[in-house]
Amino acid sequence: MFLKRRKSIENASVVDLSQRLQDSESRENAYGSIIRTLLVLVKDFAMDIAEIKTERFRQTVDDFGETFLAQKTPKRLLSIFEKQKPVITAFITDQKRYLDEREAELRNIIDLLTRAMVSVDSENAAYHRKILQQGEKMEQITRLDDIRKIKSALEREVATLRDTVRSKQAGEQARIENLAGQVKTLRQELSLAKEENLRDGLTGIYNRRAFDDYLQGLIERNLLQRQEFALLILDIDDFKKVNDTYGHPVGDRVILALANTCSQMVRSDDFLARYGGEEFVIILPGASRRNAAKKGKQICKTIHKTRYTLDPHDDSREPLSLTVSIGVTAFTRNDTADSVLERADRALYKAKRSGKNCVITA
Ligand code: GH3
Ligand code: MG
Ligand code: MG
Repeated sequence: MFLKRRKSIENASVVDLSQRLQDSESRENAYGSIIRTLLVLVKDFAMDIAEIKTERFRQTVDDFGETFLAQKTPKRLLSIFEKQKPVITAFITDQKRYLDEREAELRNIIDLLTRAMVSVDSENAAYHRKILQQGEKMEQITRLDDIRKIKSALEREVATLRDTVRSKQAGEQARIENLAGQVKTLRQELSLAKEENLRDGLTGIYNRRAFDDYLQGLIERNLLQRQEFALLILDIDDFKKVNDTYGHPVGDRVILALANTCSQMVRSDDFLARYGGEEFVIILPGASRRNAAKKGKQICKTIHKTRYTLDPHDDSREPLSLTVSIGVTAFTRNDTADSVLERADRALYKAKRSGKNCVITA
């Protein structure tokens, strides 16, 4: 009886033990599976960053998993775990530090970009608005927690910023080119207007204003470097009769024809101007009084010989002939513009008094 009872107790213990063994195996399997899952999570947690050697860390985690799960004795398990624990915590610390550093750098960049955008000078309201919007977006980026989101958002914003600046530059370039074109046109118009301001409307040769400027400039330069020059004043003889006989328009044409004749007779560096009415002045730079008188006589003679056709379609009309009187003088050391002109004018007056169609030198 006692033996039977003992046997039954032993049977119960065996059943119990076998149950406990089964439980223990199931637990071991469950722990193995949990550890494997945890190790996968640890590997996933590691970000793909070359600087902190993530690949090597993942390999270490794999090796650790295999070694760890192959161990049977709790003592060995604990010993391996204790050995690997610092590797994992060191990696986590490295990764956290790396992310903190990068985040700080990104925030600096964002700050810099935001300030750069605000400081980009703009006079254009639409552009200003765009910059403000961009600034707000930058602020939103700084609120993102995930460094990967910050990175891609930042890339997008930098691209937008670049486009904005580029389009502003292109706009400014176009505006500058446009303005440069306008300035060029205005300069041309201005120099044309200046030139027109110096020309006589009827004959196209220089007018009295241009003559006065030229003479004054010549005299001022003469103070620095002496260079002789001569001055001739021409006045058409009895021009009133031309107007009275043929009319004012013919008188105008005569004045124009006479200007052309004079133009042809002077050199390119001589200065011919209509001084007023039917009076002309010529400055001959470098010419002596004698040479100027010679030139005056040539002009006087040529004009006297020239015949001005009144009507090219009417042969019956006698061509017109003209004469001019000329006063000649040369610049002397103490002359002013007025004194030299006065002297030439007096010479012209004498020429008129001497019967016209002649040259008088003073
Ligand atoms: P003199 O020989 O003494 O010079 O006689 P003149 O008739 O030429 O005398 P004066 O200088 O007094 O007259 C010049 C005339 O020239 C007077 C004016 O009507 C005329 N005249 C002045 N300017 C013009 C012009 O632009 N066109 C025309 N057709 N005549 C002009
Ligand atoms: Mg006159
Ligand atoms: Mg006259």
